[in-house]
Amino acid sequence: MRIKDIKLLWGRSGNRCAICKIELSPDGSAETIGEIAYIVSRTKEGPRGNDALPLAKRDDYSNLMLLCPNHHSEIDKLADSWPSSKLHQIKEDHEKWVSEQLEHGVLSFKPVDNSEYLEKIYDAWVSFSKSQIWVVASLTPLRVDDDSIDPLDDAIIETLNSIHLPGNGFRESYINKYDTRPDENGITNIRTKYLEKGDGHKILIFRNGHCEFLFCLEGSINSITEYAKNREPDKIGSSRIIKYTYLALVITKQLETLKIIWTKCLQFKNMTLTITILNTRNSMLYSRERDPRGALYGYPVQTDRLQYCFIVDRYSELDHLIDIILKRFVNYFGLVLHNILDHNGKFVRPEKL
Ligand SMILES: [Zn+2]
Repeated sequence: MRIKDIKLLWGRSGNRCAICKIELSPDGSAETIGEIAYIVSRTKEGPRGNDALPLAKRDDYSNLMLLCPNHHSEIDKLADSWPSSKLHQIKEDHEKWVSEQLEHGVLSFKPVDNSEYLEKIYDAWVSFSKSQIWVVASLTPLRVDDDSIDPLDDAIIETLNSIHLPGNGFRESYINKYDTRPDENGITNIRTKYLEKGDGHKILIFRNGHCEFLFCLEGSINSITEYAKNREPDKIGSSRIIKYTYLALVITKQLETLKIIWTKCLQFKNMTLTITILNTRNSMLYSRERDPRGALYGYPVQTDRLQYCFIVDRYSELDHLIDIILKRFVNYFGLVLHNILDHNGKFVRPEKL
């Protein structure tokens, strides 16, 4: 789902269920939690899914409506009693009702908007990264309020301490729990003492529910860049090389981690997922270790950051998200998809490359 569609939906719905008009809370901390429902299901098999609407258009604003959990499950369980024509009419009437109420000052609501907060967070990452290439994955509540969670809760600390790191040479390692400590934002696990060798990470769970996993790619970049320059100096020039397999492994691990934190520690129904690679200017993506046609590189990136950001549902399938994100980054780096797809068009995961 696109961010502008979600904001539009919450705004035009006036923070209310389109059917019963109960007030909803996007942060999920209250009893009622707003849920974004599909008028026509995302899949052909789902409720009202057997429809002419193309699958690619099903995440659009025009196919979404905001409901309370009760009505969401009702329209999906009793799909025959809630055909899409009826739902479109309900949505239209509800939005009209909201705008009338707002005009008369009867209704007011806090807008759902975390974009200002995300800008601030981004500035903090930039200064933390000190011109090195880091990958950052984060989840942010749609409405950012302080004290959404207690970061010193035992369950949260335990979850944080159980995290695996994407180790070098694809070895897994747990984070060191002695690096876990409270700070001004919430609770963090940070290890930067090997940064001169290019290794470091920072994982943070904020009091407001925002969580982030920063991982330094420099160690891997240094060794692969050295290797590539020796082999193909003309092609590489002054660029720095990011290995696709390693990037894919790091992003996969980060997303698995965030999903665990979300499931175990946070109640939000929807959150903004952001994947950012910092300090990317003049870096290239190297797609495979060995390829019969020789090494495959993209083109040197001309911007300081590559970012992909969208809203996800807590029940979104992780594999599907990882596919979307990795494809997008391969595209950002100027590689074509056959570099990472097998002959069946299926995504090649890091362990198979
Ligand atoms: Zn309702």
